Amino acid sequence: MNYNMETINHMAQQLGEMFREAVMEQSKAGEGTPHIAQIEHGMREVLRQIGQQALGMFLSSMQATPASEIDCRCGGKLHYQRMRTAQVISVFSGVSYERAYYAGCPCHRGKAPLDEQFGLEPGAVTAGLAALLALAGIEFSYDQSPKWLQDFLLFDIAGNTVRSETEKMGELQKMLEAELVQHSQDETQLQERERHPGRIPPRLYGALDAAKVRIEPRLKKGGKPAEHEDWRDMKVLSWFETEVVPPAQRSVRQRKKAEREHVALRAKNLRHFCDIIEADQFGKLLWATGCSLNADLCRELIFLGDGAVWIWNLVSRYYPKAIQIVDWYHAEEHLELVAALAFSDPQERSRWLEDVTQALWDGQVEQVIRTCQALASSCPDARKAANYFYTNAERMRYDRFRAAGYMIGSGSVESACKQIVTHRLKLPGAQWIVEGAVYTAKARAAWLSGSWQALCDRRSSLPLAI
Ligand SMILES: [Zn+2]
Repeated sequence: MNYNMETINHMAQQLGEMFREAVMEQSKAGEGTPHIAQIEHGMREVLRQIGQQALGMFLSSMQATPASEIDCRCGGKLHYQRMRTAQVISVFSGVSYERAYYAGCPCHRGKAPLDEQFGLEPGAVTAGLAALLALAGIEFSYDQSPKWLQDFLLFDIAGNTVRSETEKMGELQKMLEAELVQHSQDETQLQERERHPGRIPPRLYGALDAAKVRIEPRLKKGGKPAEHEDWRDMKVLSWFETEVVPPAQRSVRQRKKAEREHVALRAKNLRHFCDIIEADQFGKLLWATGCSLNADLCRELIFLGDGAVWIWNLVSRYYPKAIQIVDWYHAEEHLELVAALAFSDPQERSRWLEDVTQALWDGQVEQVIRTCQALASSCPDARKAANYFYTNAERMRYDRFRAAGYMIGSGSVESACKQIVTHRLKLPGAQWIVEGAVYTAKARAAWLSGSWQALCDRRSSLPLAI
């Protein structure tokens, strides 16, 4: 849209003049000159009020002369009743407007065409405000977000409104994912994709992980709450590509990494997906989102994960040709645990750890297994670690993976778990019902994936879409 600069200049001049007069008056009354922050706040408040009135006037002015009758969705006719006032909650707070209302069809439906034209739902939040509320809701707890929003919007919003708008975004994301799943199971669609695949990334990574979410105790029979807290696994999948970090942009950690690995990689084009569902169901999402990125058509597809069995089962099932790598940091952690439990002497401990970590780094998994087994009789966790390295040996050929230039640490998905689950779902005192946790996490994952705008666009076409 283009706006008339002359009108803007004129209005700005008037506004500036109005503030000058108000400030002069205040000084004259001996109350001193207000600070710039007070002026800014005052000006924002005035602009909000102007927006509130202007939006109402604009909407009312868009109402054309009403026709005496219009078509009803059922095929019948709706008759003009009268002009009716409606209210919506916009980014400027409550806005009233007048529009023509039609009724009288035998199907008993009523209709205000202006509402449909602008996607307005009387009594509800506009799409513009909804996007902002959801943005607060993916970042702050539903108790805290109203306080934060008050400072930005200059009016009060209930925590429950923030919750429902945020969850609506998550629900929309879930619908988008369901569509992907449907496409990925449709033979015709799959064939079409193989003919016109679009961009195929030369090297694509998938990383899988899970984090615990505290769920409200379910009621036992008789209405008594369950004694134990209920924790559920939020599974997180991240797709990404990598790029070499230019030396000048390297962080301290990346510099250290680069010294060790001779190259520093960072993730780009990250897409995160998450859900609280069984592995089988999550597999469908893994396949569907992979299809949308042509994961199965990639020359090199690499999966990173910890040792969790569900992860490698899904990867083997859906992407049998993919390269499987146990995340370096997870593998290293197992050695650290053994070192901490098996040695009381700090020097002995660090010498052991240094040697065995080097062996792991060099892909000498058999040596790592032997080293752990040697401690097994006195340390049960060393036995467990030996089993872990034995089971995942082929996923720990770090010498080969490094030689091929692969990223061997899934820092990106671990931070996805942290960013999605820890940062938002584990805020102090947070307790969730499964659906609320899933929708909030999905909305947050969409935002972190850079697909927020797509959700907002979908939200704008509501409520017409439903
Ligand atoms: Zn009708």
